[in-house]
Amino acid sequence: MRISVIGTGYVGSVTGACLAETGYDVIFVDRNKKKLDLIKSGKSPIFEPGLEDLLQKNRKKISVTTDLRDAVANSAITFICVGTPPKRDGSSDLSQVKEVSRTIGKALRSIDRFHVIVTKSTVIPGTNENIVLPILEKESKKKAYADFGIASNPEFLKEGTAVDDFFHADRVVIGTNDPKTQEILETFYKPLNAPVFSTTLRIAEMIKYASNAFLATKISFANEIGNLCKDLGIDSYEVFEGVGLDERINPHFFRSGIGFGGSCFPKDVKALIAYADSKGVPSRILSAVMALNEDQPKRLVALLKKHIRLQGKTIGILGLSFKPDTDDIRESRAIPVIRHLRKAGASVIAYDPMAMENFRQVIPDITYADSASEVLSADAVLIVTEWKEFESLDYHGKLVIDGRRLEKAQKEAAVYEGVCW
Ligand code: NAD
Repeated sequence: MRISVIGTGYVGSVTGACLAETGYDVIFVDRNKKKLDLIKSGKSPIFEPGLEDLLQKNRKKISVTTDLRDAVANSAITFICVGTPPKRDGSSDLSQVKEVSRTIGKALRSIDRFHVIVTKSTVIPGTNENIVLPILEKESKKKAYADFGIASNPEFLKEGTAVDDFFHADRVVIGTNDPKTQEILETFYKPLNAPVFSTTLRIAEMIKYASNAFLATKISFANEIGNLCKDLGIDSYEVFEGVGLDERINPHFFRSGIGFGGSCFPKDVKALIAYADSKGVPSRILSAVMALNEDQPKRLVALLKKHIRLQGKTIGILGLSFKPDTDDIRESRAIPVIRHLRKAGASVIAYDPMAMENFRQVIPDITYADSASEVLSADAVLIVTEWKEFESLDYHGKLVIDGRRLEKAQKEAAVYEGVCW
């Protein structure tokens, strides 16, 4: 079976490469030709462990095009994996989803067989029914569920372990209001041997938001308790180790630090808050989750200020990506940390194994070090992302404020403080 994957970002490139590995022929579609050229030559357009190997290994099953209509016409299922970035008010910008829906609709006009359109992009409940489906019907002049199928199949991958997550998914959620589409997708995902949760379009869309909102809440909760632990002089890590042993709670995603970043949690929580507001059912919990998350990076800088005056000093930053093993810097906690430092009169020298090129697009005018050890020459060091290679640095004699709990730094630094321990 041949499928199309629209959008070759973090979700599209991983989904397409993993589906090629599963045995499907994959047509990657993007408006960015550079990304497609990379994929065509077996290279990954993003840094994600294991992805390039899959693209290389499955080159014969992979083709690329900027022509979305052609891709849809030559495939049985189309996966929409384009971005849904936040607007100023926090709500989702659906322009990419609408644009590709229009083109898919036009392509459907010339297709005689039943084609299935699957939205993997994260969209607010109701979007597939109220926006994607009507566009598809209008542009194709065909009827949903009679002439084509539509489904929501939200993506739960974690950047940094996305390939592994795909092949060992906790669940595959298939949301559709059509038994035929449901059967096609259940059969399609059989080779993965993952638990399948079949439901309606709206419920599938909500499962994605509720999952991310819950995980973000768990982190902000850990940070709130962690801040209190710091004040009490107790170790929040040990506290959460003990709490996580409760099966009802579980230990995953339960660490305190400088908060969550990335392309999903902040964006999705803000979108849910904006949606709740628009419906007149404001979310009190999620607003607090976001407020706490914004404050955590400030705590790191405040702790540093306890030890040195920042005016005229050079502060080293270890880690710029929003988490280790990715080059994604969207909503990275390094951004507010660096802004606060510079506001206080400090200059910054930073290092990240993978994310410096992306970070330079956001903050170009800091010093980018050639190595992690070069950062240690600064007046003080802040640990912002827990990359493995930072575990092998020599922290003796250094002033280190740690947002991510690096044991070696904790053991060796002359002066060490953790943000919540
Ligand atoms: P991204 O911004 O990295 O990639 C989007 C891609 O779509 C880009 O390559 C862009 O060029 C392409 N695109 C946009 N408009 C297009 C068009 N008209 N035609 C062809 N290509 C087009 O986004 P992402 O991080 O992969 O996220 C995609 C969606 O998946 C979002 O809704 C996001 O919320 C969701 N999601 C992301 C993650 C994650 O970890 N990144 C996890 C789960 C869900």
